[in-house]
Amino acid sequence: MLDYSDRINIKGLKLYAYHGCLEQERQKGQEFSLDITLYLNLTPAGITDNLERTVNYSEACQVAREAFTNYAYNLIETAAEEVAAALLINYSLVDKVTVEVFKPHAPIPLDFENVSVFIERKRHTAYIAAGSNLGESKETIAKARELFLKVEGNEILAESSLIVTKPYGVTDQPDFINGMWKVSTLLPPYDLLKKLNEIEHRLGRERLVHWGPRTIDLDIIYYDNLVIDSEKLTVPHIDMANREFVLKPLLEVDPYVRHPITGLRALEMLDKLN
Ligand code: ATP
Ligand code: MG
Ligand code: MG
Repeated sequence: MLDYSDRINIKGLKLYAYHGCLEQERQKGQEFSLDITLYLNLTPAGITDNLERTVNYSEACQVAREAFTNYAYNLIETAAEEVAAALLINYSLVDKVTVEVFKPHAPIPLDFENVSVFIERKRHTAYIAAGSNLGESKETIAKARELFLKVEGNEILAESSLIVTKPYGVTDQPDFINGMWKVSTLLPPYDLLKKLNEIEHRLGRERLVHWGPRTIDLDIIYYDNLVIDSEKLTVPHIDMANREFVLKPLLEVDPYVRHPITGLRALEMLDKLN
């Protein structure tokens, strides 16, 4: 949740491009118009009168232009997606963007004024628990961290120290190394899960025994204040409150964050557990 309502508006940015599904659109091109809103806290710029503390709107228009005109997409949905991503990747000060792409000359054989798509994209905060008890665990976790950061827009906001813990569930296996990252990401929840599974796979994770030994396990503990309960994904992590090896690192990275259902902080969950 943004705790301010400041924004920079760019209205009616005219861009010539070759988006569309029809041959004629892709050959001749047409003029599009973009409305863009950047959500960022403008107080630091406002009180210092310093351009460095805000987004240069002229530059932002260039970033949008490049993302919009670099490639001819079938859909203005995709073009809008590219513009939103480019702005969020280029400007870490921006927490959220909205992009509306207007296509006033769309091939519609009726009298119409305009057609547009509107999207809203933002940075999300997630908490990711990492665990390993096979191979060089600390190194593997460091590699997982590196691979995570390769994704554009991913950032680590805070990370816990790595702790040694006794195995949970299946107890006749080596001790674990556990840690937690508080991250910022542009990935929606299922894409984040997919990315984490990909990283696990790349680092040699095999799923032989549930709760068995593993080179790496990356679980989503929280994702914003979202509650998801589906076959593939449960957020907050369903068993987190019963796991010291999750709660201790969580306490370290963020003592204030609350469980979106129970309202409890890490320390309160730890107290209950003991
Ligand atoms: P546990 O989830 O109890 O810690 P695990 O991490 O060993 O067990 P995995 O084999 O890593 O289990 O994952 C099994 C499945 O759990 C994944 O394929 C994924 O779809 C699903 N899953 C559900 N919720 C989450 C979550 N919050 N984070 C990661 N995976 C999840
Ligand atoms: Mg797990
Ligand atoms: Mg897992």
